[in-house]
Amino acid sequence: MRIVGRHDVFLVGGLAIALFVVSSRPLGTLLDRAREIDHSRGLQLVPGLVILAVVFLVHQFRKREEMQREASQATSRVAEMERLVAFGQALTHSLDGDSIRAAATEHLPLLAPDRRVWAIIRARGEWLPLTPTGTESRAALERAARRAIGDADVAGDGADDDFCFPMVVAGSAIGAVGISPTPPLTEAQRSVLAAAAALLAASVKNAELFLEFHENSVRDALTGCFNRRHSMAVMDAELRRARRSHASFSVVMFDLDHFKEVNDRFGHLCGDAVLAMVGQRMNAVLRGSDVKCRYGGEEFLALLPDTPLPGARRVAEMLRHDFEEHPVHWNDQTVIVTASFGITDAAAGETDPQAIIGRADTALYQAKQDGRNCVRVTEQAVA
Ligand code: GH3
Ligand code: MG
Ligand code: MG
Repeated sequence: MRIVGRHDVFLVGGLAIALFVVSSRPLGTLLDRAREIDHSRGLQLVPGLVILAVVFLVHQFRKREEMQREASQATSRVAEMERLVAFGQALTHSLDGDSIRAAATEHLPLLAPDRRVWAIIRARGEWLPLTPTGTESRAALERAARRAIGDADVAGDGADDDFCFPMVVAGSAIGAVGISPTPPLTEAQRSVLAAAAALLAASVKNAELFLEFHENSVRDALTGCFNRRHSMAVMDAELRRARRSHASFSVVMFDLDHFKEVNDRFGHLCGDAVLAMVGQRMNAVLRGSDVKCRYGGEEFLALLPDTPLPGARRVAEMLRHDFEEHPVHWNDQTVIVTASFGITDAAAGETDPQAIIGRADTALYQAKQDGRNCVRVTEQAVA
């Protein structure tokens, strides 16, 4: 154990100076001279000097304390900024909902330790939490967030609400970051949480735009089906999966009958409405796991994973009937459009999409030859 600590150095130094002063002849002479001046001029130089020295020491001591306090505040501010930067960095790597949720769950609590911090956003009219929330508190968080972003008709006066920071992008509020209301937040905590809400808002919007951009690049805008390029990539992947898992895989190809006549009689806008209806009906009739594609102008593909040929035939018949039963109403007229279907299935281990599509196309050609509005099959190639 050290007898003289860091803080005792000042005291020891003071003692040394005092000893020096006690034994110092020139200083004694100086003090004698000061006393003489006191007497001759009626002044109180020595007490004045003592008071000055004490005031100076007290001032230095308080200044040092103030600097220490400021240094510790600056250190905690730097730590807060570092946590905020880490949150921002995590968000820059997040281009989908799951990774944004993971970043928010990991980093938000670090911005206000020992406090309950949460985030919630509104997407397509639904509130989605970005941090884990209990079901009973979910409604309270939604209420607080709605009040924070200025929603009218929110029940209650908000007295018990958590404190919220709205998440605003391009002038519109998309959600809120909230924190338990007690103890009151410091100015620094407020600015950190407001910045976190802004970062989160930008990241959510970014992910939305990225998804939209991706969707636009893989989907046909008119029908909502995958475009041909993306369909081929999906088919390639599905065929490999089917080979690995020894699963069945079938393809239904169909082409609208006499579609040129629809355009000629009712106009291209009506033709477009028919194509949009086909996309809607495919979505309504097929399974979520089936892949719906617009292969060409009025030619479509349905890729059916885990579906053997008899199942594909049933699916094709279902679609055929469904199209007949869902005419398009155009300018007081009813436009019934039928389609011809060709189906085939992948042989075990077959991975060439073009060969399979070629067989479906042959079957479709046969359906056209047989009078249209029917389903034909091309058996898989015998190995
Ligand atoms: P078939 O029964 O033999 O298939 O006859 P069809 O008239 O359907 O076939 P054809 O290939 O002669 O005509 C296809 C028509 O589809 C011609 C083309 O203008 C139309 N078409 C292709 N893409 C679109 C589109 O995006 N919108 C509209 N309105 N028409 C389209
Ligand atoms: Mg056609
Ligand atoms: Mg065609």
